[in-house]
Amino acid sequence: MRTDFLPFARPSISEEDVAAVTETLRSGWITTGAGCAAFEAAICERLGCAAAVAVTSGTAAMHLALHALGIGPGDEVVTPSMTWVSTVNLITMAGATPVFVDVDRDTLMASPEAVEAALTERTRAIIPVDFAGAALDMEPIRRLVDDRGIALIEDAAHAIGTIRSGGEEVGSRGTAIFSLHPIKTITSGEGGVLVTDDAEFGDCIRRLRFHGLGIDAWQRDQQGRSSQAEVLEPGFKYNLPDMNAVLGQSQLARLDAFITQRAHLAKRYRTQLSNISGILPLGDAISTERHSWHLFIVRIDEDAAGIDRDAFMEAMKARNIGTGIHFRAAHMHQWYRDHADTWRANGLANTEWNSNRICSLPLFPDMSESDVDDVVAAVREVVAAGVPA
Ligand SMILES: *Cc1c(COP(=O)(O)O)cnc(C)c1O
Repeated sequence: MRTDFLPFARPSISEEDVAAVTETLRSGWITTGAGCAAFEAAICERLGCAAAVAVTSGTAAMHLALHALGIGPGDEVVTPSMTWVSTVNLITMAGATPVFVDVDRDTLMASPEAVEAALTERTRAIIPVDFAGAALDMEPIRRLVDDRGIALIEDAAHAIGTIRSGGEEVGSRGTAIFSLHPIKTITSGEGGVLVTDDAEFGDCIRRLRFHGLGIDAWQRDQQGRSSQAEVLEPGFKYNLPDMNAVLGQSQLARLDAFITQRAHLAKRYRTQLSNISGILPLGDAISTERHSWHLFIVRIDEDAAGIDRDAFMEAMKARNIGTGIHFRAAHMHQWYRDHADTWRANGLANTEWNSNRICSLPLFPDMSESDVDDVVAAVREVVAAGVPA
């Protein structure tokens, strides 16, 4: 058994990352400024998008998008329940109705058919999720919204660096949000980015990120008081400080190397887990050309493994291996169970099946092959111990 604890995720922080943050701390300007602008420019350069707006979290990016679209009471927003609760909370707090679509049992992504079936006259937006680092089948969903005036915001919190079949990198078309939380593929400590190919929408998000002023804090400082910024519409305070942005930019430079290492480890997991009964990895989405392997997810099938998910996680922890749940379905959280009149769905069988069985195994770029082997050895022990003789 391992003597040290292996967490299910850990950010990879290099000396360059530390130097970038240290330099900013010593520079005399630590909040949003040249560092944030350079980070945004680097993202635009990579993706070829019209605008990248860095904010304090992926949740903040999604909040700004929903606000900019004017989503409110009477509106419906179509999204999977197999997502992080932040999206569902935001829709609910805006007074709108989340309409949950079921997901594919093995990719955890909503199909274009399921999305289409959920649309009504009240649908104002669709927020599908690129799950675990795979890419959604977006083209048919884009066609669905084309002439209906429905907004499409891709939740790409798991999918920075993911490439769709056909070569399009996630975030290079349409509007998407990324998260830079420490468990995500690259991090800025906390942070998020909204990317869009609509320059006007990008300007609106940029304004809303900082009080609804026509300029941001940095410009105000550069230009002095004479600029007399005015509120063009009431906005939020979601700007990303330079301390965080320089870390994000330093990490962005290593994104492709991170993905290569994650893919290598994921392949090793898949090979080694393939002959353990009751441990079911996700299936491949044919819409994915390059998976970014944000998460390595398995489903614990109690009938074959002899142990249920929660007991499995406890038993792994007892063997010094951390695991996670991504995610407990949103509609199965207490408040949403108690307020079933605030959301709608047409059957969530695959979502609920997965919600009760899903488990994320450790996967991060600084893990070694022998760490993967330790996890697999622990899985074997736990499963063998659980199966009745
Ligand atoms: C992490 C995550 C978010 C939110 O990101 P934060 O930066 O933590 O606010 C949104 N959606 C999904 C699917 C996520 O995994």
